[in-house]
Amino acid sequence: MQFSQMKNGRNVRHGFIKFPTDSPRENLTTCFSLPLCLQYTKDGFVPHLTWDLLKHVPDNSAPALIPLCSMYDLIPTLQSSGQKLSDFISSDFNRQIFLTDQDVLVKRRQGFNSSDFIPIWTESGRKNIYPTDLLNCVNVFKPDAYRLLADGETNKESSNKRLDKSVHNTAQLTKKSFNIEGQSCKIKPVFGSIVGGWNLKQRLISIEHLKSYDVDGYIIDGLLAEDLLNESTDTKENLNALITYICSHLPLNKPRALFGPLKPERVADAVSAGIDIFDSSYCSYLTSIHTALVLQSKAFPFEATSKLLNLADDSFKHDFTVIEKDCCCYTCFKGFTRAYLNHLINVKEMLGSILINLHNLYVYYDFFNQISYLTH
Ligand SMILES: [Zn+2]
Repeated sequence: MQFSQMKNGRNVRHGFIKFPTDSPRENLTTCFSLPLCLQYTKDGFVPHLTWDLLKHVPDNSAPALIPLCSMYDLIPTLQSSGQKLSDFISSDFNRQIFLTDQDVLVKRRQGFNSSDFIPIWTESGRKNIYPTDLLNCVNVFKPDAYRLLADGETNKESSNKRLDKSVHNTAQLTKKSFNIEGQSCKIKPVFGSIVGGWNLKQRLISIEHLKSYDVDGYIIDGLLAEDLLNESTDTKENLNALITYICSHLPLNKPRALFGPLKPERVADAVSAGIDIFDSSYCSYLTSIHTALVLQSKAFPFEATSKLLNLADDSFKHDFTVIEKDCCCYTCFKGFTRAYLNHLINVKEMLGSILINLHNLYVYYDFFNQISYLTH
């Protein structure tokens, strides 16, 4: 994996990341500007959309973030077909794959983690994934990068004892992943996770442990979706301080990722703090609650503020304007009005979610492109 970054005049990291590939697929994009936003998926697709529809989203063919929990039951099918996951999903799926064990939008169930395995919940129930299982999954799914198992099931209320356990479990899982007999977990770019919740001391212990392994990048884990979505000023300031602290203790020459639903203002703060890789789960989250994202003062993304429109609200019943007047997304460009989208939601028509997600993804990726443009 190639990674290059430097700081610009705004003291913000910029550069590129290139994932290696052994794929013979033509026109496969493998090099991406920072900050990179992975395309969040569930069951192998972006919620509500086909891969072909993503041609309307300016995501520069960003790699797909694929949670193992939604694809685990496919392993026997893939093994019997001999197909690569990318070929199995669709001929329109021409992207690299980042495999992760958990779905960032699904609340993790507490009390099952251990220093030997991490549980995932699949359609057929709970599966305990040991480091050797993860390696087998990597051999089947052939992702272009993946993350090691980690116990990041902590939130703001987690006790010191729980944080201790989370750091210990993750350290043991990392050690076991690097000591699988006869195999190396270095078959692909591999990202290690930093855990420790909101406790700086625990975060530092986790960082120091991970530094002794040859990981290609770092993921800031241990922050659940509910905390990332928390609107309080207190959370915003604490999150900024936490991310800045973690990034200040990480090597400069390796990428740092923060996965989960982050509003644009939080993304801008995290980029300033030193995060390089994100994902688009915020758009799927908003679409699931019939909400459209509107960005204001877009000319300067670091000072952008977002506004949310809940299109299920009765106030949109007679609103014949598009979601955002100047938006160039498919939904706004084709003139779908807020009133019509409100109707589609009320009659539970799938088209409503398709059109809202196309808009949300367009706005989110346009925002990333503006940050990337301004920082280069
Ligand atoms: Zn739009």
